[in-house]
Amino acid sequence: MMMMKSSSRFWVWLPRYSFSRYQCDYASSSSHSEAPPPPVRVGFTEDAGRGVFATREIRTGDLIHTADPFLTHPSLEALGKGFCEIETTMDWSLYHEHCRVKGLKYPLLVKRFACMVISGMASADNLDILQPAIFSHGMSSTWEEEFELLVHNFKNTDIHPGLLTFLTKEWYSGILARIRANVFRIELIGGYHTDLLAAASASISVETTVGSAVYMLPSMYNHDCDPNAHILWIENAKARLKALRNIEPGEELRICYIDASMDYEARQSLLYQGFGFRCQCLRCKYKD
Ligand SMILES: [Zn+2]
Repeated sequence: MMMMKSSSRFWVWLPRYSFSRYQCDYASSSSHSEAPPPPVRVGFTEDAGRGVFATREIRTGDLIHTADPFLTHPSLEALGKGFCEIETTMDWSLYHEHCRVKGLKYPLLVKRFACMVISGMASADNLDILQPAIFSHGMSSTWEEEFELLVHNFKNTDIHPGLLTFLTKEWYSGILARIRANVFRIELIGGYHTDLLAAASASISVETTVGSAVYMLPSMYNHDCDPNAHILWIENAKARLKALRNIEPGEELRICYIDASMDYEARQSLLYQGFGFRCQCLRCKYKD
């Protein structure tokens, strides 16, 4: 997800292999094993940094690609991503209570990621490729409390201290900033609602959504208030990117980060507060 309308040092080293590395695949209707690569590439836009572009013609309604989540909350059977053992065997009551009282959701994803790193399921730098949110002044004292609680919790276990060296304030704030800017709220449109909702309500849930997840390729899509693509979930956290209209080869694919039915002022305000940019899409230029 793009944060700023200017170029950034983070965008220059995006490796091509990142797609396959992060489990994005093109889902064709047939089930043969050699699925073609997704018809998209990550490149640079003129004014919005990194973006996703079509490599061939895409028709209205086409499934452009799917993407498995890198990180989810809550961890659900249906997501295909279970809790790692460290997370299930530790006592998280203080941390969870702190998040619940403060209405925090992102620290739960950071905690999950830390557990994945300690378990060897992920590398501490796996999310570095994503664009971080810019913290406003005064937010640091908020996350420092969670950070201390998290470190305290890990140090109270028999986990080898050598496995915790990545757990610095810099790492924590960097991951939090990336999760904040790139998290998707999963809202299922069909399938196993009851399963997911039961699991969500049994866990920490500060919102009425089914869950939250962080993806790699979907995070590279820029925003447009009149998007040509959208992201949806059917029965689990596998994200599906679909075309809303015909797209020419080379055209940038954009999704809408917010509720597109809001008026111009409301959209501008929400995008600035939530993502830190002023939208300059065609619709916004006409103040529609
Ligand atoms: Zn706009």
